Amino acid sequence: MADTAPPAWMEWVNVPLLLLAPEADRVLALNGAMRRLLAGDSAEPGDTSEPSSPTFLPMALERLVGAEAAAQLARAAVRRDTPDTGADAGAHAAGAPSVTARLPGHPRAFRLELSPVDEPPGHWLVTLCGEVVGKEEGKAISSIYEDLQAVLEWMPVGIEIYDKDGDCVFTNTHAQRLFGWEKDELIDLDDWWEHAYPDPAYRDAAMKAWDEALAASQADGVAVPMNDWKVTCKDGTQKFVHFRLRCIGDHPVLVYWDVSQEQQVQAELRHRAETDELTGLRNRRRFFADAKLVLDTAAASGDPVSVMMIDIDHFKVVNDLHGHAVGDAVLRAFAERCRSVVGDGVLARLGGEEFVALLTGLSQDKAAERAEELRRSIETLAISAQAEPVVLTASIGVATAAAPFDIDALLMRADQALYAAKRAGRDRVALDRGAIGSA
Ligand code: GH3
Ligand code: MG
Ligand code: MG
Repeated sequence: MADTAPPAWMEWVNVPLLLLAPEADRVLALNGAMRRLLAGDSAEPGDTSEPSSPTFLPMALERLVGAEAAAQLARAAVRRDTPDTGADAGAHAAGAPSVTARLPGHPRAFRLELSPVDEPPGHWLVTLCGEVVGKEEGKAISSIYEDLQAVLEWMPVGIEIYDKDGDCVFTNTHAQRLFGWEKDELIDLDDWWEHAYPDPAYRDAAMKAWDEALAASQADGVAVPMNDWKVTCKDGTQKFVHFRLRCIGDHPVLVYWDVSQEQQVQAELRHRAETDELTGLRNRRRFFADAKLVLDTAAASGDPVSVMMIDIDHFKVVNDLHGHAVGDAVLRAFAERCRSVVGDGVLARLGGEEFVALLTGLSQDKAAERAEELRRSIETLAISAQAEPVVLTASIGVATAAAPFDIDALLMRADQALYAAKRAGRDRVALDRGAIGSA
């Protein structure tokens, strides 16, 4: 316990105080405000309830404020006790001496002022005058604020900051470089929408996404991704741009960057995953995806749909006679011929030497005529391999149906027709005469 009773008024003061021994090296008493501060309690001023952790007194001042601050306070006490002379006089003119010190459990430093007390005589009072931002720390923060605009300018993403009325108050240089427009070149936001999204339907979709993102961000203050949009630049080129929006305070902040390359790579990968490498036609996976869209459209319009299953006759012999490389060349030429006859129908290589075509709007007879046209054109396909030309024929099975469509059933019916054509001697078209609805 303290060797001298602390003055009662210390407890009435709501500023953290320490009572020091005459040598200014030991803490004899702490008031309630100081005890609460050291205990880390976030009590409001005026709350005089005791902190939970007791402090054992007296204790070395050094333990509380660190060696450096304790030494400074002790030196200041010595100076205060010495009459003003010579070089030290200036220190007194500045008022109560103060030091900066860190207290246990507090990351920031505090300013501590030393003053003599009359009661008990010869003792010292240390008053905590407030938290200080260290000189270096303060300098760093203020210089960052000064340079914040330069930081935003330097970011490798477009940044736009709006005010609550929707007016753009800041655009960084990257944003201008991305789209090519100079500052103030676009009159207002409407002007931007018109230029960046010339297609009205696409523009409406982009504006809707913007409005939705703005509402979501205003409601939650979270960053809202707005997906990728194809933006038309000043020079007419188009870039895929990923946008993110976040309301910070009253300010909608838009951050965006060019994802054209990523989009291109993704499109390339998608294309590879859906394309038959040898012929460039759709593969099986893409066929089913496209078939679904075609059938949905046909169901809505009431058009019939026909499937042609196309299989090269005795293709194995082509490989055996001329080699695999010629076989590949035949497959490519065959695919090209199919493409020209099928036109805008959905054509795919299902595997090996088997192809499928989906045609809409043709009656079964018209579909059969188209298949016959293809079969004849295959006969005329002249592929020369070394000395002798490759003679090629194909068999085709055709099935036609009206909505409601079942793609698997339709394919099966066309397949059965194809095998009927094979069994009947190949190089022919066979029709599935099953249910064709009203077609
Ligand atoms: P069918 O008239 O009954 O259809 O007889 P086919 O010989 O055409 O049919 P089969 O299924 O017996 O043989 C198909 C051959 O196609 C066997 C296979 O080696 C060949 N093939 C499959 N894919 C390729 C390919 O990508 N390139 C080449 N060159 N040949 C292929
Ligand atoms: Mg075959
Ligand atoms: Mg086959």
